[in-house]
Amino acid sequence: MRSIRFPAEKAPDAIEVIRAAFGVGRELTTVEEARLREAFARYEEEHGRGDLLSPSEYFVGELGDDFRNAYIQTYENRRLESLRTTLKSLAANRCPRCGGSRPGTLDHHLPKKEYAEFSVYPKNLVACCQECNGKKGATVGGNPEETFLHPYFDSIPPVAFIKVDLDVQETHVTATVSFDPDAPIADTLLKARMKYQFEKIDVNARIESEIIEYITERSANISQMVEAPNPTNVADYLRQYAITTDSLYTCGSWQSALLRKLAENHDFCSGGYKVMLPQSLEDAPA
Ligand SMILES: [Zn+2]
Repeated sequence: MRSIRFPAEKAPDAIEVIRAAFGVGRELTTVEEARLREAFARYEEEHGRGDLLSPSEYFVGELGDDFRNAYIQTYENRRLESLRTTLKSLAANRCPRCGGSRPGTLDHHLPKKEYAEFSVYPKNLVACCQECNGKKGATVGGNPEETFLHPYFDSIPPVAFIKVDLDVQETHVTATVSFDPDAPIADTLLKARMKYQFEKIDVNARIESEIIEYITERSANISQMVEAPNPTNVADYLRQYAITTDSLYTCGSWQSALLRKLAENHDFCSGGYKVMLPQSLEDAPA
């Protein structure tokens, strides 16, 4: 779960985007343009929150369909394909909702079914993974505590908010993640929304296999990089790696939380990591 900066230089003029989507066959009327500018300004003001923004009563019926259909132009080999590419590049190959990999789809933060006016509004389009896209569902009205975070507008505080439970056994190491109820986040609504999203998209199930892969990779690093792999050196290595990871994914990432948890686990640092190694690495001299 993280914020994405929508760089001003990459933010195309939203009205021009709609003109490009419509192409020569469909002019935008003066009234439509005025209504759209108004809607976009409100969106900015309310940070795209579905509980605060009512769907337009103007862009409904066939007029709404014009806008919904315009979204097709973001597909491959269509007029707005480059918009899709730009938005996906902002996510830098990490889904902003779950923190997992492959943010290959574009999600309408406010669903286009209800909010036709935001169908091709760039700031309403967020790259995320297929699973999050499916799990998020529509957010229209309702309880503010049950609204998804908007990666472009909500600032996720730079604190650790993921709790990791580690299980180091003789044959395996596994970890589960959950939202830390003690995370130091002063904004109670923001905290409630983060918790809601974390649970709604089931982050733990989503990244389960990535976690195993990640522990295996770090175990291989330890066996190859740490010269004298005693518990202190292994823990130091993991802590150092966590600091590097903070700068890559922010300290709120599951990777950082996991590394710190591994560093403080004596069983893991005193050799438990070896159970994750493929045989060839385990037998190799350190
Ligand atoms: Zn995701």
